[in-house]
Amino acid sequence: MAIILDGRVVAQHLQLQLQQALNQFDKPLQLAILLVGQNPASLTYIKRKQKLASALGIQVLLEQYDENTTTQSLIAAVQTHNLSQTSGILVQLPLPSHIDTQSVLEALDPNKDVDGLNPINLGRLMNGQPTLVPATARGVVALLKYYDIPIAGQQVVVVGRSRLVGQPVAQLLLQQNATITIAHRQTKALASVTQLADIVVVAAGQPGLIVPTMIKAGATVIDVGLTKTDQGIMGDVDPSVSRKAGAMSPVPGGVGPLTVSCLMQNIVQAALLQSKYD
Ligand code: ADP
Repeated sequence: MAIILDGRVVAQHLQLQLQQALNQFDKPLQLAILLVGQNPASLTYIKRKQKLASALGIQVLLEQYDENTTTQSLIAAVQTHNLSQTSGILVQLPLPSHIDTQSVLEALDPNKDVDGLNPINLGRLMNGQPTLVPATARGVVALLKYYDIPIAGQQVVVVGRSRLVGQPVAQLLLQQNATITIAHRQTKALASVTQLADIVVVAAGQPGLIVPTMIKAGATVIDVGLTKTDQGIMGDVDPSVSRKAGAMSPVPGGVGPLTVSCLMQNIVQAALLQSKYD
């Protein structure tokens, strides 16, 4: 049976570290969240962020915009926060389809971009410079590190190439000297690729995509999938994989609980980057 990589335990550990890191600032850090419309999933995520921020003493400024807000006015709001006292700015995604999401993300001060989606931050990540990295990707690495799973020299297969998860996870693990393969929807014979991996990170949004025959015995399996189904929340990895894996992160209770803590780490890092660059 696999060791269970418990994200709740790691989240608590990160929160203790965060409390210490926050003590070095002489005033509370502030996060601005810009929300357009009333997407119920977005509102749920924002509540989670507000809850942890308030427990840590980080102030959250939630600005809500009408569903019909234009790209221009959202960019203007971002620019206002670029110049304000906020340490971090988060534009809650997805934005309505009439908004040019990329232009909004490009308007962010890279040193306040706590979701790590501004092209400057993506470039810094490619360069191996310290930067703001999407929180879920940070969570995957935090989980591996906490449980002392070796990364350097290991064969890692990342299933999924999204800019929020797959690509930044691959880049972070490459920086840690793993050998990386990125699989995606066009990958032929996915099983033959995943079977070679010492570590499989799955972020494909396909419940039950990974079954025991697709992994090497003893491999570490990190499940980033999170899909609401009639049977409840499901990951991308079939639970029976835990009988063959050496270590596995469950869904729920794996990477999920870490994401908000990693966002808070990004707010601290944003404040530090601003004192370095601005
Ligand atoms: P998220 O950002 O939540 O990780 P996205 O829906 O943006 O998810 O991206 C899903 C990723 O998973 C894409 O890169 C896609 O190519 C990959 N993917 C989806 N289905 C499969 C599959 N059956 N096999 C391999 N990769 C897949």
